[in-house]
Amino acid sequence: MTSLSAGEGSAIDILIVGAGPAGLTAALYLARYRRKVRVVHDGRSRALWVPRSRNVPGFPEGIVGPDLIARMSDHAVRYGAELVEARVDEIARRQNDEGFRARLASGATINARGLILATGVETNLAKLDSGDHDNAVCSGVLRYCPICDGFEHSDERIAVLGSDLHGAAEAMFLRQYSRDVTLIPKWQVALTDKQRGELAASGVDILEGRVLRLDATEAGMFVSIEGEAEPRRFDTLYPAFGSTPRSELAAMLGPLTDPNGCIPFSAFSDGLLPGVYAAGDVIEGLDQISVALGQGAMAATRLHNWLREQDGHVMADQK
Ligand SMILES: Cc1cc2nc3c(=O)[nH]c(=O)nc-3n(C[C@H](O)[C@H](O)[C@H](O)COP(=O)(O)OP(=O)(O)OC[C@H]3O[C@@H](n4cnc5c(N)ncnc54)[C@H](O)[C@@H]3O)c2cc1C
Repeated sequence: MTSLSAGEGSAIDILIVGAGPAGLTAALYLARYRRKVRVVHDGRSRALWVPRSRNVPGFPEGIVGPDLIARMSDHAVRYGAELVEARVDEIARRQNDEGFRARLASGATINARGLILATGVETNLAKLDSGDHDNAVCSGVLRYCPICDGFEHSDERIAVLGSDLHGAAEAMFLRQYSRDVTLIPKWQVALTDKQRGELAASGVDILEGRVLRLDATEAGMFVSIEGEAEPRRFDTLYPAFGSTPRSELAAMLGPLTDPNGCIPFSAFSDGLLPGVYAAGDVIEGLDQISVALGQGAMAATRLHNWLREQDGHVMADQK
């Protein structure tokens, strides 16, 4: 791991912010294109939370999130990528088209000709009244991603916490795995009669009372509902609170995000600005490891070719 001192102002070809699946794939590709590439990350990849993913192709027995990140980091470093653990606080364009300058929390700066933002999202977490949050995720009592692990909860008693359309859609999705899916409101149900009818027709139960307590235990998630004497037990609970894109750095470069802070889908292929690409969860779309891998590879290749073009290293007819 490289460390940078304040004011160093080191210059590289490409800076990648983020060492999750997207950033590390981009780093591997760029290192193999013989670019001087540095990955700066603040140690908060969501993949580090994955207890065991079973939908990453090539790992039929599953792979533990931290193992995947460790393997991917080693792989990129083996080909010459540098990894630095630090928070990037600021990104700005340099004058005269000289690329970008990033300022780290330590005050150190990095100058780069190109930039890939692979900064991910922040999961909006459920607050437990008892039980350890991370242990509950690890044991499967608390889950955040039906696409990732709904399969593992086939035929179980599943609760979805969230009373809006997002929660309803998640409950309906989980219905393909289990007959026993209940949508429970955090505060009050915010669904139209038509939406309630659709849920009823698909066999999703809706509880009307407000949730008072969430207790994660080894025996499951106990949910106390206003007006009910006993808590209800579920095998697993999916909070449907969505996530918040970590797109502050993109916003520093211009009005590049939508009102929800999402970066447009085309950012991994067409770029955001000349010399700036984004990849992975931070851009609009499906938040999955496989998607992040593909987008990281694409962003890296497009940026590499853009730099070649700047340097006159492509066939004129290729442009
Ligand atoms: C509990 C859980 C289980 C999941 N299970 C699965 C699964 O089974 N299968 C699957 O496909 N997906 C799963 N996912 C989703 C998967 O983790 C993400 O899709 C994947 O990690 C996205 O990769 P990414 O590189 O885009 O972002 P991330 O992996 O989140 O990485 C973002 C990186 O950006 C860095 N960063 C952000 N801002 C800054 C900054 N200002 N300065 C420095 N660094 C910064 C972070 O430190 C991090 O390194 C799961 C997610 C969760 C939460």
